[in-house]
Amino acid sequence: MERIYVAVRARPLSPEESKTSPWRISGNSVYLHNQPTKFDFGRVFGEDCKTVDIFEARTKEIVASVVRGFNGTVFAYGQTSSGKTYTMRGSVKEPGIIPLSVLELFCSIEKEMDREFLVRMSYMEIYNEEINDLLAPEHRKLQIHESLERGIYVAGLKEEIVTSPEQVLELVEFAHRHIGETNMNLYSSRSHTIFRMIVESRERSEEGDSINCFDAVRVSTLNLVDLAGSERVVKTGAEGLRLKEGSHINKSLLTLGTVIKKLSDGVESQGGHVPYRDSKLTRILQAALGGNANTAIICNITLSQIHADETKSSLLFASRAL
Ligand code: ADP
Ligand code: MG
Repeated sequence: MERIYVAVRARPLSPEESKTSPWRISGNSVYLHNQPTKFDFGRVFGEDCKTVDIFEARTKEIVASVVRGFNGTVFAYGQTSSGKTYTMRGSVKEPGIIPLSVLELFCSIEKEMDREFLVRMSYMEIYNEEINDLLAPEHRKLQIHESLERGIYVAGLKEEIVTSPEQVLELVEFAHRHIGETNMNLYSSRSHTIFRMIVESRERSEEGDSINCFDAVRVSTLNLVDLAGSERVVKTGAEGLRLKEGSHINKSLLTLGTVIKKLSDGVESQGGHVPYRDSKLTRILQAALGGNANTAIICNITLSQIHADETKSSLLFASRAL
């Protein structure tokens, strides 16, 4: 599988939105009906697609690779109301990428008879370049540290040991209830959330067999990221806090775009500079983007006329990543 995969998902138009759309989808390209420029992607999912199809197209493989010891990250990118949260969390009608991945992860682990596993999860948000713990809401403004032993980590972030999909989904529900209670819609569209599963494994040893004790422990992470809305805040004449939030978001999404572009151009493997440190988001995800990691970007768009400019800039972002 290629290291960086980009798919586009167009959500269904809502009843209030005009059904006349300037966009056309043909195979795996999207284009404006009156313009020659086509945007091509790994996959384009139209309005009738199901989240499970998107999951099976790539995320499923990424989950399997995490169980084998490789890091993986899936992003939902797009303007507010384009369907990022629907895609990642799901709805009462269909499960999202998070629950589908959690089920798949435990399923894959059960099939690995030769290894024993320890699975942990964490869930955090980055709001205004501040890291808050969604599993322990009292833990706010956490700092990023780096050590030889742990690599890059968020100090004080709760990591819950989990043994079943049900337990994970309960913790996820807890976090979402908390987000729902404390955050207005506006706020949640301005934060990035990172759901993380940490998978540690080692070869199962025979009882009393001490040789295997020195076997290398594999540790890998699966990161499912619901990004802040990509809309340009400057356009709306924002001031004060709004403007500050907006410039943090623009900067972190810009950095993410640059980091992914550099990785797909092979800059890191040639020893070049990748600007992970330019935003908290890329810093936290550094190990899960570089090296042997696998990345998928699901670029969420709406096909309605009024969002044509934002859709175009989302498609530009996504095509730049390839
Ligand atoms: P975002 O997180 O990007 O701001 P949401 O996921 O909240 O956007 O989606 C905006 C609205 O559109 C929500 O009411 C959501 O239920 C609906 N929606 C998004 N994607 C789909 C889809 N694929 N099918 C049905 N409804 C969707
Ligand atoms: Mg959302």
